[in-house]
Amino acid sequence: MNPGVIINDDPNAHITHLKPMPAADEIVDRCIECGFCEPVCPSRTLTLSPRQRIVLYREIQRRDVAGEDITKSELSDVFEYQGLDTCAATGLCADRCPVGINTGDLVKKLRTAKYQKHETIARWTANHFGSTTSLVKVGLRANQLSTSVFGERMMSGMVGGIRRITKGTTPVWLPETPTANRHHLKHGVYGQPDNPKKVVYFPSCASRTMGQQRDNTDQRSLTEVTMSLLAKAGYTVIIPRELESQCCGMPYDSKGMNRIATSKSQQLEALLWEASNEGEIPVLMDTSPCTKRTLENISRPLSIFEPAGFVCEYLLNDLTLTPVNETVMLHVTCSSRRMGLEDSMLRVAKACAQDVVMPEHIQCCGWAGDKGFTTPELNQAATAPLREQIPGNCRRGFSNSRTCEIGLSHHSGIPYQSILYLVDDASR
Ligand code: SF4
Ligand code: SF4
Repeated sequence: MNPGVIINDDPNAHITHLKPMPAADEIVDRCIECGFCEPVCPSRTLTLSPRQRIVLYREIQRRDVAGEDITKSELSDVFEYQGLDTCAATGLCADRCPVGINTGDLVKKLRTAKYQKHETIARWTANHFGSTTSLVKVGLRANQLSTSVFGERMMSGMVGGIRRITKGTTPVWLPETPTANRHHLKHGVYGQPDNPKKVVYFPSCASRTMGQQRDNTDQRSLTEVTMSLLAKAGYTVIIPRELESQCCGMPYDSKGMNRIATSKSQQLEALLWEASNEGEIPVLMDTSPCTKRTLENISRPLSIFEPAGFVCEYLLNDLTLTPVNETVMLHVTCSSRRMGLEDSMLRVAKACAQDVVMPEHIQCCGWAGDKGFTTPELNQAATAPLREQIPGNCRRGFSNSRTCEIGLSHHSGIPYQSILYLVDDASR
């Protein structure tokens, strides 16, 4: 008869045995644990969904308020990896949440304390960004040289061995690790200065340092392809001053180093404002997450586009496109989804290729800046449904984030490149 449920003697039954929802942090306190956010989270099959992250954090905070020593608790250890380390912090969950909770914001806030000890090094890299990217290029060249001497198998074994010895604190080695970008872009105006069609091009630090993976048929770097495409469309390209020392701040923001991230984005804003003639000329950034971060952090009226948005807005009118006779994969990055660019990316891809496949059940690839190298299991879990959805006749994939493309190539078995390569191919 299900006693106590339909007929109940207790006049306080409606307020008894309620699920505890202790206050934890104002970012997540409104969570009703409905779970609408779960299907889009890249870590949902690996560790925790956003809802589960919040539930765990609430429990840790409840214990803290109750006076328990949470620093030594098993739950805190579990939360460190499952809650913090495996969150991509891209905030896709916020788009699904009925009350707009971005669990990634909570994670970034909690990472601030965790990464505090690295702040001095981070500040040095931010203040010497040109030297930092040069060092990355040296590393990429050394990797290329070692791979050609030792071969992929031995490289994977050696780097994997070091990772085991260091208990997972050093990065993994992937055969898709790119070569260094040899194309050196300098500040200046490329094309006729009196051309009415002008664009400011800001290549991300990833595009400036990374070339292509070794087996790509088109070995030109993204910066070369973008410059060639813009010239083909009749644009005069303006490269901002102090390019080498600029960054949108994303690498610092994702680790909760807010002050450094803000200072980098403010420097960039000032230079883009100057280069764009105070917002008159559109700005093309070739990497989607950097575009999103910059748009969210600027205070001046700049027109900033990532590749697909810029092609839709400008280049589709300026280029004659003949779709390549191929089936291609398209990955819409989480930052593009959050900027509402899914349709634009599909429109561009369909204008350039006969057949376009957008795989199901992948909302975010989980690469998350550098986590593909440091926490590769997140990328692996998030892209698990990819390989089986690639048609047998498909040889290439396209996206708009250089770093995400490394993980997509690794887990799909086909090389992924920027969608600008496809536009360049179709406009030959
Ligand atoms: S959708 Fe929002 S309210 Fe619902 S569980 Fe997720 S974070 Fe909480
Ligand atoms: S920010 Fe991304 S990885 Fe983190 S909880 Fe939200 S959807 Fe999941």
